[in-house]
Amino acid sequence: MATATTAIEPSVKISANKLLINGRWINSASGKTFPTVNPATGEVITQVAEADAADVDKAVTAARAAFETGAWRRKMTASQRGAMLNRLADLIEKHADELAQLESLDNGKPYQIAKAADLPLTVACYRYYAGWADKNHGKTIPVNGNYFCYTKHEPVGVVGQIIPWNFPLLMQAWKLGPALSMGCTVVMKPAEQTPLSALRVGELIMEAGFPEGVVNILPGYGPTAGAALARHMDVDKVAFTGSTEVGKLIMKAAAETNLKRVTLELGGKSPNIVFADADMDEAIEGAHFALFFNQGQCCCAGSRLFVEEKAYDEFVERSVARAKKRTVGNPFDAKTEQGPQVDQDQFDKVMGYIDKGKKENAKMLTGGGRVGDKGYFIEPTVFGDVTDNMTIAQEEIFGPVMSILKFKTIEEVAARANKTTYGLAAAVWTKDISKAHAIADSVRAGTVWVNCYDVFDAGAPFGGFKQSGIGRELGEYSLANYTEVKTVTVKL
Ligand code: NAP
Ligand code: MG
Repeated sequence: MATATTAIEPSVKISANKLLINGRWINSASGKTFPTVNPATGEVITQVAEADAADVDKAVTAARAAFETGAWRRKMTASQRGAMLNRLADLIEKHADELAQLESLDNGKPYQIAKAADLPLTVACYRYYAGWADKNHGKTIPVNGNYFCYTKHEPVGVVGQIIPWNFPLLMQAWKLGPALSMGCTVVMKPAEQTPLSALRVGELIMEAGFPEGVVNILPGYGPTAGAALARHMDVDKVAFTGSTEVGKLIMKAAAETNLKRVTLELGGKSPNIVFADADMDEAIEGAHFALFFNQGQCCCAGSRLFVEEKAYDEFVERSVARAKKRTVGNPFDAKTEQGPQVDQDQFDKVMGYIDKGKKENAKMLTGGGRVGDKGYFIEPTVFGDVTDNMTIAQEEIFGPVMSILKFKTIEEVAARANKTTYGLAAAVWTKDISKAHAIADSVRAGTVWVNCYDVFDAGAPFGGFKQSGIGRELGEYSLANYTEVKTVTVKL
């Protein structure tokens, strides 16, 4: 555990713990609440109103009214919508310290990292989409005959958004930014583990002056509130980030109800390929970051680490040494690199994979245990001699568990990299530009990083091939998720 001398005491007050529906903070129809827990201690932070189907119905009605009356998409011009999103970005920036504290308390991620990474990226995302609000225009089309034909890019309507707990503020921004920019109205369900920062942003949304009903936020559970949103007959589109398993349920729910549009950002088992000619210092630190960042709870974690045989022994030895140096402990200590896993379920799941790795004869080189006796801390763990068919090389672990595999040739690793049902991200480390491009070309993944990892920008699209998802978030590409194209043909 890191020493306490560089730690701060969180000072944030919890002000929002109800449902935001139609611009008002209300209790759930059932009156039920649920506890949200600090994963560093296992203690309850506060009770939060628990939405269910009746609340979803109310929120969808409010979002529909806000959409149909045109409070958001007609009475306000596109550039006024952009200005409103910029106002929200300014308020988030003003309250960055408080939001970073909330994020750290509820999720367990180190406060300094939340402040240095999650907050600026969140603000940048809202600003980026503020800029798009008045720039998503259609075309004029030279059709046959004497007609004037043009397209309009219209908002898709009422959008249900279901987000996960690993980057609560950022996932909220990735979803709200493009939806609001395009003129949609939203009902959002944050993850049950991390509702607090989303609700605080709800307060800032009201402070910024968004019309009532444009953004509704419903904390609650997936199988109840989440499922009700995915099944609602008056929701035009659902956007989901989370597990592939639930992604399939969302798609099924959409198919069985009103064929609402579906975009999904799901899991991954991303190959991170290190050639012997790479800058080893950068590759080792980069691979460590690629896997352990955010307690290993990243959909794009570099969780299949392929290392060329010639460099394997050195790489493994130094990666183990780096993992042993990783500081795990109090998220409010400036020296902490790694906080707890988000909850007991995730802790148990990750420990289960560590057991599986040992049983299937991967070589555990460091870690494998719990840190401390309260909270959900896990030692940075490294397995060597991992082979393609082992469970830890196939399933998403979502924890601080590195699996290192050996390869000999570029042809071999290119084929093995694609032997997965996922296709979210990949990376390659080499000084040889031909190898870098060959891997970038052959790997079936939505993002490829060359000599870097986890480089995100609001302008650069992100999403999955194969079972890692449908559609792209961020960048210009995500505008299509929230747009219906209308063709208008006029006789001249
Ligand atoms: P999850 O169940 O997929 O949760 C994601 C979101 O979906 C949460 O808001 C969740 O609500 C909601 N949800 C759950 N069941 C639903 C349903 N039947 N209908 C509608 N919404 C539903 O993920 P998890 O259980 O937290 O984590 C399990 C695994 O998913 C992780 O170990 C990891 O492998 C993967 N995961 C991936 C990402 C990613 O960024 N792609 C993020 C988180 C987790 P609740 O809060 O009530 O669960
Ligand atoms: Mg929590």
